Amino acid sequence: MKSNVLLYLMITGILLGIFCGWIFGETMLAVGWLGDMFLDSLKMLVVPLIISSMIVGISGLGDIRKVGKTGLITLVYFMATTGIAVSIGLVMVNFLQPGASVEMTADKIPENVSGKEAIGLTDILQSFVSPNLIHSMAQMEILPLIVFSLVFGAVLTTLGEPGKQAIGFFDTVNTAIMKIVHLIMYFAPIGVFALIASKLGAAGGGDLFLAELAKIGKYAWTVILALLIHGVLILPAILYLATGRNPLHYFKNLTPALTTAFSTASSSATLPVTIECAEENNQVSRKASLFVLPLGATVNMNGTALYEAVAVMFIAQMLGVEMGFAEQMIVLITATLAGIGAAGIPEAGLVTMVMVLQAVGLPLEGIGMLLSIDWFLDRCRTTLNVWGDSVGAAVVDTLEEKWVEKGEGA
Ligand code: ASP
Repeated sequence: MKSNVLLYLMITGILLGIFCGWIFGETMLAVGWLGDMFLDSLKMLVVPLIISSMIVGISGLGDIRKVGKTGLITLVYFMATTGIAVSIGLVMVNFLQPGASVEMTADKIPENVSGKEAIGLTDILQSFVSPNLIHSMAQMEILPLIVFSLVFGAVLTTLGEPGKQAIGFFDTVNTAIMKIVHLIMYFAPIGVFALIASKLGAAGGGDLFLAELAKIGKYAWTVILALLIHGVLILPAILYLATGRNPLHYFKNLTPALTTAFSTASSSATLPVTIECAEENNQVSRKASLFVLPLGATVNMNGTALYEAVAVMFIAQMLGVEMGFAEQMIVLITATLAGIGAAGIPEAGLVTMVMVLQAVGLPLEGIGMLLSIDWFLDRCRTTLNVWGDSVGAAVVDTLEEKWVEKGEGA
């Protein structure tokens, strides 16, 4: 399908989904299965895509020194943009004070969060390796798969001809999976329509959604405004300065991925589309997109980290807890780590928020206040997460070419 046609169809799908879910409410649950089918068909590709992408990505980067430099550029980009995102969130939440006039009423810890009290830095580090890769695949635990595939790909490059053949095999697997993504995208406009309409329907339609929004509206607006500042000003500026690309053009070409992120609330499920848009529409080199995007979908979450900082400060403001410079520095660091630790699945950010709350001694019950609207804010932050990853792919692509390849040649 021509990318422009797909773009318009997907935007139409989103708008129609909002319209139908808003007006017809729960009736739209009837189309939920169509959305689930779209989501499942993307998820079906994630495990083979991650494994083959990382193997082809790392072997495409060349010898171990080049891999190290490219890895370093990627890491610096991830950490810097996440740090900037959290700082924007903190400035906005201090400025707008969304929690100052809200009374905390929720008193129970949400189910998916309770029992996570012990989450901390060591848990995040431990999640990098898995004792059982098959189990990780079945559970869609992406981080250990990435670590394994990176090591596996790196080792293959040291094995001479047989190693090359094995890499060739994974290269073909990757190309085949991307062809399947292409086919699934024909179904995407209907898929995003059904996902949005049924989700808004499940939330009770437009009127109920507005009522929920009104309760903690200022908080939601603070999150959205901060996400917009990062997504519309900071990331495009980085893209332009680092690569000279036209941010509007780059954004437009990514629309299928961004609309998929908004409708699925999952960076991981969106990954196949993100890679397709980066490579085909935006001509990011294959080795950069295959290396940066799977990593980014799992560890680079600008939107999630920003959201967690705003949410934790909102809870503190509701409780009347004074948060000084030192406490906010702790929020900055832990929210950045929590963004890294969050899986690319819906509402993962709520779970890793436990770490940030604990670091500054706030009660977990505060999360209960955020639940009613989280399904919506999750979609907004996931869209920024995917936008951040995609800008990262272009930045790493350009810098890798400038610094690593030219540096080697000199
Ligand atoms: N849903 C987000 C993502 O997949 C993670 C989160 O913030 O909950 O990127």
